[in-house]
This record gives sequence, structure tokens and C-alpha cells, in this order.
Amino acid sequence: MKRQASALEAALAQLEAAQLRRARVTVAHRPASGRSLTLAGGRELIDFSSNDYLGLARHPALADALARCAAESGAGSGASHLVTGHGEEHEQLEKELAAFTGRERALLFSTGYMANLAVISSLAGRSERVLLDRLSHASLIDGARLSGATLARYAHADADAAARLLDADPGRTALLATDGVFSMDGDLAPLPELARCARAHDTWLLLDDAHGLGVLGTRGGGVLEHFALGSDEVPILVGTLGKAFGCFGAFVAGSAALIEFLIQRARTYLYTTALPQPVAAAARAALELIRREHGRRERLLALVSRFRDAARAAGVPLASSATPIQPVLLGSAGAALAAQRALAAAGYWVVAIRPPTVPAGSARLRVTLCATHTDAQVDGLAEQLGRACPAARGA
Ligand code: PMP
Repeated sequence: MKRQASALEAALAQLEAAQLRRARVTVAHRPASGRSLTLAGGRELIDFSSNDYLGLARHPALADALARCAAESGAGSGASHLVTGHGEEHEQLEKELAAFTGRERALLFSTGYMANLAVISSLAGRSERVLLDRLSHASLIDGARLSGATLARYAHADADAAARLLDADPGRTALLATDGVFSMDGDLAPLPELARCARAHDTWLLLDDAHGLGVLGTRGGGVLEHFALGSDEVPILVGTLGKAFGCFGAFVAGSAALIEFLIQRARTYLYTTALPQPVAAAARAALELIRREHGRRERLLALVSRFRDAARAAGVPLASSATPIQPVLLGSAGAALAAQRALAAAGYWVVAIRPPTVPAGSARLRVTLCATHTDAQVDGLAEQLGRACPAARGA
């Protein structure tokens, strides 16, 4: 054991030396209104790092739905969906998500990570290929690995490169999968072009719209609504409930046959405890708000423009993103960490994203905006970023 323990210590020391060791902070409190967090120890910071884009995680309607359901049904589901874990709240939420996404059926998963593993490993086999964007989320990559299929990756957001890969070996490609909004870059996949080439080759197309659903499109329909695409063009949609929905969990939406197949075959569905029903109840409350109240989305997109104008004026190196994910590119892990520390000292919580989450040399701050930020908070962040970024300071 001694040898193994020292190997771990050496690996950790190596991460530390490369400025790649991660550390957690403990959040002691998040007030119900506004957008701050208090760290254990008492420091209050304005939070620009959460994926709770619409500010629904602290909405009283979600807390009420959760508490009411917990009082009736208890905290845990007690079993997998196929044993006795599937409850009325799950059933209703699946029906409502199917209607919201305009698909025959939806199937709940405990996380988006598990949903992606489920779809890819169920639809692709060892003798086949899975095509992914080079900047795909880890769960899509791991799904492809789990399937045993050959993983082929095309240049980021390059539909021509995807088409060339498909042309090269058309019969063997089971599935093409893409993020809708890229989680660390905030840009959109070229979905109309990808859909055209997947259809031309009779290949499944999976859209993981973890960061688009609820946020983009006038009705919150995500990247599909943004591009006016439907289930004919993009037959498999993965959505998450832990981001704009402010809850936890995920779903796959698609044809009745696809969902029934996943129920039979997807190991991350079959062999795991069902999502707690109170979480499903809260997600139903979130969906109702997303469907009915469009003001949060409009406010959020107005803040995106405001932030970009103010940051540009302050000389901050922005990427070309029109979504609430606004990366500030800094290059080295050390530069990103230094900027994170400077912003924290000024009262803003923004997290440095380093390899392997992003490619080497492209470390960044990942700013995320939320409908509940105030104009003054957004302006203040842009000003502080101008002070913290070497490029803006002319360093
Ligand atoms: N897909 C993308 C694009 C993501 O960014 C994430 C979460 N960061 C996931 C899937 C996983 O979702 P979950 O957090 O529900 O596991």
C-alpha cells in the first residue's frame, strides 16, 4: 500500500506544480434573491460561475413543489424505475417534457452525464463509429468509449469536416453527437449543416442541449428553436434539469421506439435508483415557469449584450459567444488562476477553467450570466476583468 500511496502523492504534486490541481470551495449560503454566495468563513461574493441561468434554483415555486412532494412521497425513490422507483411525478414530468420538446416520449435520467452514456452506448456497437466535435462534453466522449465503437472527432464546429468523415466510411457510422451550446466556449454547433449530413448518410444525430434548453429560442426551446429544427432533422435530444431548470437530473426525448429501446437496454437507466420524486416535482414547477414566463430569458440575453459591450470597452479578450457562457481567454493555467484570484479579491466569483477540461494553452475564465444579475453587477465584473486580464492591461 505504501508504494501506491506515494504514487498518488507524486501525481498530486505534479498537478500542483503545473497549476492544474483543482480545489473545491464550500458555499455556506445563497440568498433567495440576487446573485451572491457566501463562502464558508463568511466572505460574500457575486456569483458569475453557475449554470442556473434563469435563477430558478432559488425560486419559491420550486422549493414549494419539492417540499410538498417530499412530505407526500418521502425523500428517496427507493428503487430503480423498472422496479418500484417510478412515481407519478416522474410520469407526469416525462409527459410534460415530451410535449415541451415536441417529441413522442421523454425518459428521465439521474444526470445528463448518464443520459449521454445511455444513448451512445445503446445505439453504437463495437464494429461501428461515433462522430464527435473536438470540443465535445466529456460525457459524450465517455459514452462513445463505453460503446466500444471507434471514436472519430472532427474540428470544432466544422460541419464540412464531419461530412468528410462520414463520406470516408458511410456504412459504419452509427451516430453523430454534438453539444448544442459548447459548455466551455458558449458558441453554437452548426446544427442545420450537421443535420443535413447526418440525414444524407442515414446516421443518428444526438443533440446535447444542456446549456441551450430554457435559455435560447423565444419559447425556451433551445438550440433547436433557435435554428427552427425539429425531430425529423434531430431525432435525439438530451436535456438537463440541473442548469436552466435550476434542479437536478436530465432526460432524453425522441420517438416512442427510441425511448422504449433505452428502457430495455440503457445500463445507466436500468441499474440505478430513480431520481427522487421531489426533484421531479420541482422540475415540473421549473418547466411551468420556463413555458409561461419569457421575461427571464429576455433579461438574460439583454445582460449578455450589456456584458459584452462593457467587457469589450474594458479591453477584455472575449470569445465569439452570444450565449450566457462568456469565456475570457487567458492561455496558461497560471494566468487563469491569477485572474480568478484577482476577481475573488474584488468580490466576484468566476472560475478558472484549465486543461484537461479545455485544450492545453486555452485556459480561461468561464463567466456565466444569469437573469437575476443586476446591471451594476455586470458592469462591475467587466470593469474588474479589465483590471485582472493581462491583455486588457497591455501586459
Ligand atoms: N452535457 C453538457 C454539454 C454539459 O455541460 C453537462 C454538465 N456540465 C452535461 C452534459 C452533464 O449534465 P449533468 O450535470 O446533468 O450530469
